[in-house]
Formats: sequence, structure tokens, C-alpha cells
Amino acid sequence: MTTTDNAPASGDTPSEFGLQFELTPSSTARDDAEREVILSDPGFGKHFTDHMVTIDWSLDAGWHDASVHPYGPLQLDPSASVLHYAQEIFEGLKAYRHADGSVWSFRPDANARRLQRSARRLALPELSTDDFVESIRQIVRADLDWVPSAPETSLYLRPFMIATEAFLGVRAAQEVAYHVIASPAGAYFTGGVSPVSIWLTTNYARAGKGGTGAAKTGGNYASSLLPQQEAYENGCQQVLFLDSSESNYIEELGGMNVVLVKKDGTLVTPDSDSILEGITRDSILELAEARGHRVERRRVTIDEWRDGVAGGDIVEVFACGTAAVVVPIAELKGEGIHIGSPAAEGGELTMSLRAELTDIQYGRRPDVHGWMTRLDA
Ligand SMILES: *Cc1c(COP(=O)(O)O)cnc(C)c1O
Repeated sequence: MTTTDNAPASGDTPSEFGLQFELTPSSTARDDAEREVILSDPGFGKHFTDHMVTIDWSLDAGWHDASVHPYGPLQLDPSASVLHYAQEIFEGLKAYRHADGSVWSFRPDANARRLQRSARRLALPELSTDDFVESIRQIVRADLDWVPSAPETSLYLRPFMIATEAFLGVRAAQEVAYHVIASPAGAYFTGGVSPVSIWLTTNYARAGKGGTGAAKTGGNYASSLLPQQEAYENGCQQVLFLDSSESNYIEELGGMNVVLVKKDGTLVTPDSDSILEGITRDSILELAEARGHRVERRRVTIDEWRDGVAGGDIVEVFACGTAAVVVPIAELKGEGIHIGSPAAEGGELTMSLRAELTDIQYGRRPDVHGWMTRLDA
């Protein structure tokens, strides 16, 4: 059993039998016609389903009161520690509808373990893998009709944990809430995958040694918003961060990991304590290794990227994460640096790895890695 070995010593309910979820159906659920209008053009993160999951935690009682209930505003005391000290973590994963109508998620156990690692770093309680996966199953079953079926669409799931204790002192909160909300997501690219331009910021860092860079926590995003604006102002869609001490090593984008492809087929990706370990990147690299490609996880300097592209040794670069899956990087620009060209097309390996991964996620290819978990049955 994986349930108890990650539980904190601090009174977590040993959930060998798992939490029981109480269901309160929404009395204001959208009807079929209203839902179909939304699902015909869902965009991303704009519309939410009729239900949400809540599980409460306290130091004394551990995890308790698990429920699926109507989607709606949270009630928080104005002194709740999350609002002042950002004691918060989150996850992001998708539910995919297969051609036979069944609904699946991709490696939800990996998201569960990452949420546990993030929880440790943010001094939050750990939720067991079983309870995490069950929470995903519960919301998807309550809102099954919200899982779209058009190509490359999905139901995006956003589990998150916040410190709710009403207390302005600075210490780990003794009351916490975990929620899951769900949002139908349209195809990330309509009309074909288009490569992006990336802005290299040299004024800002995302995370530092010993900081929270490896945790999926809102504070990392808060600090990335200003450099992200700098990227927009320079005609770029995303920002690339370098390491904070030497401004020399590639870290990652604001919310996606980066992979370089060499002429000999080797894939190179930054290894660092201050980047978020993406499940998409891990999966893509495993697919590449299974095809016989060499994979190097090591420090990568910005000079290696620039000289490699200039000399023809680096032939493809891409970013990856759950929302967009895999996005080719056409160019990188910053103060005194310009790599690649905005007209570059997605590389062959980039595009074929993207296709292999999405084929597995949408059930168009056998799941030989055992990555898929059925949610609707
Ligand atoms: C979530 C996230 C990623 C991508 O992780 P996936 O598991 O692939 O979705 C990469 N970088 C950051 C900073 C993230 O928050």
C-alpha cells in the first residue's frame, strides 16, 4: 500500500481504506444545451464544471470531511495564512476522452507524488497517492459530461492545497484545505502546432538554490509574471530563466521544461535543483530512450545552446508541459543574444514524440508503459 508511507507524522489519518467522499449534487448544474455551447469553444481555464472536491485537514484530525459539492466561491478568513504568506501548492493534469467514450488520466500517481514533494517543501500536509487519485476520479465522475470529445480537447484538472488557518503569525498553518476544480480545455493549437519565440530574461530569476523552484507553488508564478510581461513586450510568448547565481545555466520557462535535440539524436535537458520536474518531460524522454535515443540530464549553458544552433550541432529545441504537451521553440532572444529564426518549423523528432505521447493519452496507441488510469469505471 502506498497510502501511509508518505503521511506526515503530524496526525495524518492513516487512510488504508481511503477517504470516503460525500456527494452533494449541484442544484444549478448547466443543462445539456448550455454545456454544449461551452464545450464547442472552451478555450483554456475560463469555464468550470458544476462540481468541485474539498478535503479538510487539521493538525488534530488529519484529513477529513472529503466531499464533492457544487462549484462555488470559497469562504476564507481574511487572516488565512495563504493570503499573506503564500502557503499554497497545486497540480495540473488532464482527463482525456477516448474514442469509445471512456475517460482516462495520464500518470496521476506521478502528480500525487509531486504534490507530496511540494507539500513537504511548503510545510503542508501530504495527501496519500490513493486519496489524490480518488479525488480526481470523484470530480470526473460527478462531471463526466464535461469531458469534451473533439480532437486534442480535454478536461483540465487543477488540484490545489491552501493554508486556511486564521492566524497572522509566521509558522506552518494547522488548518489546510485541498480542493480540485475542473475546466474544459480546447485544443491548445488550432490549425497545427506553431513554434514559439522565447524571451531570455537576464534581469530576473525564477528560483534560487535552496528556494522553492522544485515545488509547484504559486509564489514561483507570482515572481514570473513581470518577466513574462517583458517577454510579451519583446514579441515573445514565453520567458526563459537562467540559474540565479551565475546567470549561465538554462533552467526552464515560466511553466514548461526545455529539451534540446542534437544532430546525433541525443536529447539534452537541464538538471537543476531549482526547476520543476515535469511529468511531460519525463515521459517524452522515456519515449525517446525507448526508441534508442541517448538522453542527457545535466547542466546546460546558454552558450552551449547558442553555439550548438549556430554550428548545426543542435537541430531542434522544444518546451513541454501538460497544457501544451510539446511546443517547438523557433527562436530565443534577449539583450545581446538571438538564436534561431521566427520562421523555423517544428523539428521532426519534436513532432513525432509529441504525436506518440498524445496518441497514448487519447488511446490511439497501446499504453505499453502502464501510464493510463481509467476514471469513469
Ligand atoms: C507544471 C510545470 C511544468 C510542467 O510540468 P508537467 O508535469 O509536464 O505539466 C514545468 N515547469 C513549471 C514551473 C511548472 O509549474
